[in-house]
Amino acid sequence: MPERPSLTVNGRRYRWMDQPLVVVCVDGCEFDYIHQAVAAGVAPFLGRMLATGAAFEADCVVPSFTNPNNLSIVTGVSPAVHGICGNYFYDREAGAEVMMNDPKYLRAGTILAAFAAAGARVAVVTAKDKLRALLGKDLAGTCFSAEKADAATLELVGRPRPSVYSAELSEFVFAAGVKLMQTRCPDLMYLSTTDYVQHKAAPGSSAANDFYAMMDGYLAQLDALGATIALTADHGMNDKFGADGQPNAIYLQDLLDEWLGRGTARVILPITDPYVVHHGALGSFATVYLPGNADVQATIDRLRRVEGVQLALSNAQACARFELPPDRLGDVIVISEKNVVLGTGRARHDLSGLDAPLRSHGGLSEQAVPLLFNRRTAGIPGERRLRNFDVMDIALNHL
Ligand SMILES: [Zn+2]
Repeated sequence: MPERPSLTVNGRRYRWMDQPLVVVCVDGCEFDYIHQAVAAGVAPFLGRMLATGAAFEADCVVPSFTNPNNLSIVTGVSPAVHGICGNYFYDREAGAEVMMNDPKYLRAGTILAAFAAAGARVAVVTAKDKLRALLGKDLAGTCFSAEKADAATLELVGRPRPSVYSAELSEFVFAAGVKLMQTRCPDLMYLSTTDYVQHKAAPGSSAANDFYAMMDGYLAQLDALGATIALTADHGMNDKFGADGQPNAIYLQDLLDEWLGRGTARVILPITDPYVVHHGALGSFATVYLPGNADVQATIDRLRRVEGVQLALSNAQACARFELPPDRLGDVIVISEKNVVLGTGRARHDLSGLDAPLRSHGGLSEQAVPLLFNRRTAGIPGERRLRNFDVMDIALNHL
């Protein structure tokens, strides 16, 4: 085979793959899920990755939400560069809350599209359809979601279309990945699951261990097919409820209405999306748009004194610290503590779909995620804290 070129994408260089590379983003995968499943003896392949491959703890992007992190993983850069910092932003000029899952909001090309354009066979499978268009932007390759799988895909995978709120939605992704590897042998494959199970079940619980046992079996098959496996997560997951089992929530819109006047400030929760049943749109990150006459610093100081608020920062402070796009966030960024979530108005959250005590994400407390490989790494500089969006760099340049 002729020598293949290296590619430079968004300022980072990637070597051509020697073996098929499968990058897996396990949604909501706190590292402890893996440790507990391995300790329980239900995930022998993950145990092998920990023992004889390479394992790191890495930081995800804050806000620790699904879309910003998936897009960082496939572009290799922060949201400051690729622009996707949540599911929603507020367009001040249009005076409207805008959903950010249209690919037109993506400001950087993906590593996936670059390899496909250079002649690699590339495949992308996501659980939920909300990510498909963003991940598949400009991609000449296979790209589908389990949620909206068409007839040909259902036949390929040999499983019925799963419910969007189920563990089977993620299993479909892994089953599709194995079938694609067996039949089309992609050079580069990206598999992205959903955190339905992690939102309900803590590490070590039987539902969680069942999920990781399922995943383990498919990863072992991909390994047996000769693939390099690189596994990371978009964010972790923590309990967000009190002793009474009810969500531990700070309702920011109610607070700001009281402080500044009803409806003058606007709270945006970038976790909000069409699939809120399992988290009631409650996460640990919020951004606030203040009226023109508001004293931003005084509001920040006041928010910092609210019990359960971990950080309140100005737009400039937060965008510098977390590498975020200033034009898609409000005047103030609020992050709550580990077991606390942020809401808008109490009356605006429909929590009737929560059939288990709330677990969620979005804050600093969900930033640590696993970075696992089925081969040993070489030449990773030791000092720097790794990010989940270093996964393609390590997989292609350091294995
Ligand atoms: Zn997620």
